[in-house]
This record gives sequence, structure tokens and C-alpha cells, in this order.
Amino acid sequence: MIKNQLFNVRKDIPDSVTLVAVSKTKPISVLKEVYDLGERIFGENKVRELVEKHEALPKDIKWHLIGHLQSNKVKYIAPFVAMIHSIDSLKLLKEINKQALKNNRVIDCLLQFHIAEEDSKFGLTLLSAKELLESSEFSEMRNISIVGLMGMATFTKNEEQVREEFRTLENYFHVIQSHFFKFNPSFEHISMGMSGDYKMAIEEGSTMVRIGSYIFGTR
Ligand SMILES: *Cc1c(COP(=O)(O)O)cnc(C)c1O
Repeated sequence: MIKNQLFNVRKDIPDSVTLVAVSKTKPISVLKEVYDLGERIFGENKVRELVEKHEALPKDIKWHLIGHLQSNKVKYIAPFVAMIHSIDSLKLLKEINKQALKNNRVIDCLLQFHIAEEDSKFGLTLLSAKELLESSEFSEMRNISIVGLMGMATFTKNEEQVREEFRTLENYFHVIQSHFFKFNPSFEHISMGMSGDYKMAIEEGSTMVRIGSYIFGTR
């Protein structure tokens, strides 16, 4: 079952798009099954669950933190996390930089943008992102690398709205890239698209899809 779903997803995704298998709430045994099918990138939205799964599973897994992150929890994941998708403030980025330095690492991060109409979704605006990237504090950070943007579309059946929100994020990517990362090839990712909308996200320029329930079943 999971095997078929994973193969279906892989078939839908071009080689240039990275799959993050979102394994939140699923038990270790199920992650191991997907690991044995070759998947090496897993996404979790809670720090404690991420740490427990990292401890229990093979160490060649790349763990992505995709959910909201509180500054006081960064220290638990800084030793191993491969990417953090949810940067929504300078304060959080400063803490990640500090903890990465302690671990002698450079941590890949995505700036999370607010593209949905719901107020509940976290994220930056184009203005607040520019302020962050123009700050002297940001320019001094050596232990984080901004590798792109992330966003979540509104949870709606209105496909045109979702597509419009993906287009907005893709447009922000180019604006931010041309202003701040013109000569930095590491700035390359647009993390958008989940189980219900990943095909559309890829059509609109996604380079990284975060897929949970379509692979693992409903939570
Ligand atoms: C849970 C989650 C996903 C995956 O959602 P599905 O609809 O299960 O594919 C993707 N991104 C974030 C930020 C999530 O919290």
C-alpha cells in the first residue's frame, strides 16, 4: 500500500524536484518501511518527535523541520537537522546561527512566506523578508545558509486560488533572488506543494514538495 503510493508520487515528480516524505505522527516502523524503499528525506513538524525519530533511525536520513519552530527548541535539532523550512523571524534565524556555530555546522534554511488567506499560517511578507535580509545582523551570520523559500497555500477546493498563491511565492522567489542572492547558486529552492496540490505546485515552479498523507495515509 505505502509502497504503491510512494511509487506513484515518485512517478509524478520530475528528477529536478525534491520529495520530502512528511512522516509526522507516523510510527518509527512505518518510517523504516519507507526508508527501506529508498526514501532518505523525511519531514517532521514537531521538535520532540523529530529528535526521537532521528535517534531511532539510520543516520543517513536527512531530516527536515517543516513546522513552526520556537527559538528555545533550536538547540535540540541543531546537531543534525538537514533543513529548516520555517524561518519566520530574525530572532529565530539568530538562534539557529548561534546553535549551528556551537555544533560547527552551517544549517540550510528556507524563509517561510505567508501566502494563504488564513491568518493562522505563519510566515513573512515580502517587506518583512527584505528587512530581515537587509539587516546588519543577518549579514554577519556565517552558520546559516538561506537556500530558498517555503509557503503553504490556503486549504480550499478553489484550484485557481491555490495556483495564484503558488504563483505569488514563485514571484517572491525571483524578487528575493535578484535582490539578495544573484551570485549565490545555493539559493535555489521553492518548497511548495502537499498531498492535495503538489502537481499544481510543480507546474508553478516548485522545486521541493512536502507530501504526507498521500504516501502514509490519513493521520
Ligand atoms: C503536514 C504538512 C505537510 C504534508 O501535508 P499532507 O497534506 O499530509 O501531504 C506539508 N507541509 C507542512 C508544513 C505540514 O505541516
